[in-house]
Amino acid sequence: MSIADNIRAFQQELSGTNCRLVAVSKTHPVELIREAYDAGQRLFGENRVQELTAKQPELPADIEWHLIGHLQTNKVKYIAPFVHTIQSIDSLKLLQEVERQAAKHQRQIRVLLQFHIADEETKFGLSWAEAEAMLRDAAQQLQHVRIAGVMGIATNTDDEGKLRQEFGTLRGYFERLKADFFADNQDFNEISMGMSGDYRVAIEEGSTLIRVGSAIFGHRAYPA
Ligand SMILES: *Cc1c(COP(=O)(O)O)cnc(C)c1O
Repeated sequence: MSIADNIRAFQQELSGTNCRLVAVSKTHPVELIREAYDAGQRLFGENRVQELTAKQPELPADIEWHLIGHLQTNKVKYIAPFVHTIQSIDSLKLLQEVERQAAKHQRQIRVLLQFHIADEETKFGLSWAEAEAMLRDAAQQLQHVRIAGVMGIATNTDDEGKLRQEFGTLRGYFERLKADFFADNQDFNEISMGMSGDYRVAIEEGSTLIRVGSAIFGHRAYPA
C-alpha cells in the first residue's frame, strides 16, 4: 500500500461520517507529505514547532496545519502567522499568548483544549477543574482565538474497554463544556481523539478528528 492508497482508504472509511482525518506527518519528509496532499489530503499534524516551521513554506499554502504536540509559550510566535489549529492548549498562559500572537498577525487561530485522559503520568493535558477555571477566567477576553473543542490521547493499550472508557470521558468533557460555556457557539464542535492503533474505537465513541501517522506513512525513523 502506498501513501496515496492509505489516504484513499481513509477517505472511504470516513465518508458519510462526521469525522475527518488529520494526517500526522511528524518525522516524515516533505516529499511524502506531498504524496498525501496529491491524493487529496489537506489536514496535516505536526508535534514540534521547529519541524512544522521548516516544512510549512515547502508545501502548498492551502494545507490546514494542526499543532498536536506540547507547545511552549515562547514558541507560539513562530507558528502564529500560519497555523490553523493548535490542538494542545493546556494552560491559561498558553491560551493568552496565542490570543496575543494571533492579534499581532490580525488573524484567527482555532484551538482545542487538551485533556489528560490516559493512565500515563507523562501525557500532558488539563483536568476538568483546570479547564473550568481557565474558561471562567479567559473566555470573554478572547477575540482572535476560537475555542473549537477538545483533544485527548488515550492510554497506549489494546484493551478496548479501557479505550472506550477514556474516549467516553473526553466526550463527556466536551458535552459539559458545550452546555456550560458554548451553548450558542457553533464553532465549538470538535472532539479530537483516535490514533493509528485506536481510531476505530474513537470514531465509535464520537471522534470528529482522528490523528493518524504510522497507519498512513509507515513507521517513524526515530521516536517522536
Ligand atoms: C504522533 C501522534 C499521533 C499519531 O500517532 P500514530 O500512532 O503514528 O498514528 C497522534 N496524536 C499525537 C498527539 C501524536 O503525537
